[in-house]
Amino acid sequence: MIPKSITIYGVKYKVKIDPKLESAGLFECQRLDKKNLISIFKDDIDSMLYAYLHECLHGVFEEGRVNEVVPPEIEEVITEQTVKFLLKNFTVEPKYR
Ligand SMILES: [Zn+2]
Repeated sequence: MIPKSITIYGVKYKVKIDPKLESAGLFECQRLDKKNLISIFKDDIDSMLYAYLHECLHGVFEEGRVNEVVPPEIEEVITEQTVKFLLKNFTVEPKYR
């Protein structure tokens, strides 16, 4: 299952499963005047894990300040390619604590 929160570089994000979400996932953060929130569309577990990993990587870009030097469309490509690579070659499972 998907954890209820994740800490990315020391910053806590709430994780919400949202059956009404209009995309597979959504990343929001305080720097853009939102709550620190990762929303995931309610779907089968593989799709939810895919979306969760994808949105978490946006969090890594945000909190690592990589997005200050990488344009959003390039970030999207890197995020997609990284998620596909990880899920194809590794057993990816969220940690719960
Ligand atoms: Zn994305």
